[in-house]
Amino acid sequence: MDCSICSSMPFILRPPRNTICVACYEGARNAITLMNKLEIDHHSKSTHNTTPTASSSPNSCKPQPLGNLSKWITNMKEIEEDLHKKISFLGGLIVAFRNQIHTDIQLQPGNNGPIIPAHRALLAARSEIFRNMLDSDGCKAPPSDTITLPELNTEELESLLEFLYSGNLGFDKLEKHVYSLFVAADKYDIPYLQDFCERYMLSSLNATNVLEILEISDVCSNKTLKETALNFIVRNMEDIVFSAKYEVFAPKNPHLGMQITRAFLMDAKTKRINGV
Ligand SMILES: [Zn+2]
Repeated sequence: MDCSICSSMPFILRPPRNTICVACYEGARNAITLMNKLEIDHHSKSTHNTTPTASSSPNSCKPQPLGNLSKWITNMKEIEEDLHKKISFLGGLIVAFRNQIHTDIQLQPGNNGPIIPAHRALLAARSEIFRNMLDSDGCKAPPSDTITLPELNTEELESLLEFLYSGNLGFDKLEKHVYSLFVAADKYDIPYLQDFCERYMLSSLNATNVLEILEISDVCSNKTLKETALNFIVRNMEDIVFSAKYEVFAPKNPHLGMQITRAFLMDAKTKRINGV
């Protein structure tokens, strides 16, 4: 194809035609659509946050020509670099945790493992529940210097703290502890950790882990995760229901077994009505 954009033939040797191939055409259209969508989103956010003025009418949000793409990407790159610097600045807190600088509270894991020193202010800032536990008003006895987290073992507690201090967790630790961290995020009211675990579970959902994910989504009343897991089971009913894991799962979670049966029957009914 003699495409004037992606052809490897030098410009000077090409016949003087300005045709472009389907891939370049689609790419250009998609880039323009994306730029306009993000521009409109950005615009509606900034007008929601400020008092409306004459210049902030919807008409001032003009469609972006493709010529602006490189300027736009450069701008995004600058924002990204700035965010990286900000993250690394805020991540300095984890150094205070790792080196135990001015720690003032001790956390006890549930497996009677070693106590982990941490910072009251950080725990209170990250979780409303920790804040209440650490608050001392006139009526209550002063809070003790140790908090026990009976549901987490040493490794799980370390991962939770790493996330609370740095807002991030390595893939290996996340993969290993995602279920207990998700339950802890629910119990201690840490929405960002809930989102972080939810995204991981949605992206890693497969026939091996779907029953665990269904169980955990039910415990934590997470609708998105539960519906996604149920749909996955319905689409892979035979593999899952005849697996050894299901034999353990079903007697332990009779209400979920019932929900799987209902979801499967509703799906079969819909398919029948639609003639699929
Ligand atoms: Zn092309």
